[in-house]
Amino acid sequence: MTRAIIIGGGIGGLAAALALHAKGHDVTVFEAVSSIRPLGVGINLLPHGAGLLHGFGLADRLDRIGVRTRAIEYRTRYGHLVASDLRGIEAGFEHPQYSIHRGQLQMLLLDAVRERLGPDAVRAGMRLQEFEQDGDGVTAIFRAADERTLLVRGDLLVGADGFHSRVRRILHPNEGPAHAEGMMMYRGAVERAPFGDGRTMFIAGNHDVKFVCYPISEEARQRGRALVNWVAEVRHDRPRPATEADWADRGDRSFVDAFRGFRMPDIDIVALMEATETVLEYPMIDRDPLASWGQGRVTLLGDAAHPMYPIGANGASQAVVDGGALAAHLAGAGSLVDGLAAYEADRRPKTSAVVLANRQAGPEQVLDIADARIKGPDDRIEDLIAPHEVEAVASRYRQIAGFTRRAE
Ligand SMILES: Cc1cc2nc3c(=O)[nH]c(=O)nc-3n(C[C@H](O)[C@H](O)[C@H](O)COP(=O)(O)OP(=O)(O)OC[C@H]3O[C@@H](n4cnc5c(N)ncnc54)[C@H](O)[C@@H]3O)c2cc1C
Repeated sequence: MTRAIIIGGGIGGLAAALALHAKGHDVTVFEAVSSIRPLGVGINLLPHGAGLLHGFGLADRLDRIGVRTRAIEYRTRYGHLVASDLRGIEAGFEHPQYSIHRGQLQMLLLDAVRERLGPDAVRAGMRLQEFEQDGDGVTAIFRAADERTLLVRGDLLVGADGFHSRVRRILHPNEGPAHAEGMMMYRGAVERAPFGDGRTMFIAGNHDVKFVCYPISEEARQRGRALVNWVAEVRHDRPRPATEADWADRGDRSFVDAFRGFRMPDIDIVALMEATETVLEYPMIDRDPLASWGQGRVTLLGDAAHPMYPIGANGASQAVVDGGALAAHLAGAGSLVDGLAAYEADRRPKTSAVVLANRQAGPEQVLDIADARIKGPDDRIEDLIAPHEVEAVASRYRQIAGFTRRAE
């Protein structure tokens, strides 16, 4: 039985722990924060990621907390419907897409890991400092919450330690700074009356001023309410640098002004933002794809491997898919090192393509096409953009993100 050390108890690290455990590995997750709390707001889990979690027997739990997304609508700033893209089961996929609270998903995975792997399988308050590997294994060196230095020995080490990954920095010390293009993102969630069918998300505006909105709580939906998650994206002259990217509320609400001209038929987005108590700020940042991820017994996973713009609902989904692929490749290889190499050969090109596609706005390109042509609220959208233009953008992105329907 191999002993796997996973660095980072986020979505990717915990999903990988379940996947590796299911294949018989002895897994321990080491998380830097002392107490794992349900932080963040909404994320989306695409059908391929959801399918893996269903495979771990977590479908009922996911269905209790996440909303099965029915469709994504792309809208102009005046609320015209440019395109509506069915999602999940409704779109012919085998598994649903979930709109879900990131913190609740993390807690769901944490509970599942502790139940199946044991109460000590996730060790909080353990921040990785260094690692060393030799022919027999890997030694991970941690700074514990009480400042002690602790050494842990394993057969392989997976860096699932997110955007500011220490494992990545050790493996790639000369990597350049994070890549940013000047967008800041502000996020929040508010409970209110549902809009639309209660299962549809919309994205409105253009590449420089964009509003994303979706319900994320099945529990609220069952009560006839909606926990509405929103993301406001605004181009800044001096966006917050990547080094300060930390999902904090800095009290700035001036970004709301950029949306005062927006008119949605079913929801007042300015009122929604103004009613939000906590607004998390995060810059739109990613990193150039790496020419290699790991070395020997050490590899990367999730945001540590392929940090990407949060476009096309891919951040959490690709992290979950990485975990499934890692476990499958280790099971199919002659040796552990070969298994890690096969995992990287499989996942690195695919996720690099998503990173680069997201820089080109991914499936949201239709917004820019419509925005460039629309003059005012009285324009007819059907005169401005043809259905085949819309479908070409959507199907190209499905291919890149790896969640094509059977006929594609
Ligand atoms: C606090 C927080 C809030 C977030 N909120 C949102 C959100 O609202 N919407 C959204 O789309 N995305 C959010 N994200 C990002 C999203 O979770 C990821 O993009 C995606 O799920 C991929 O997950 P990951 O496991 O690769 O990385 P992450 O979810 O970032 O998890 C990485 C984990 O590694 C831990 N870690 C870091 N360094 C070390 C170290 N040296 N030693 C041990 N552990 C370490 C971190 O504490 C973290 O728990 C958030 C991330 C964080 C950390």
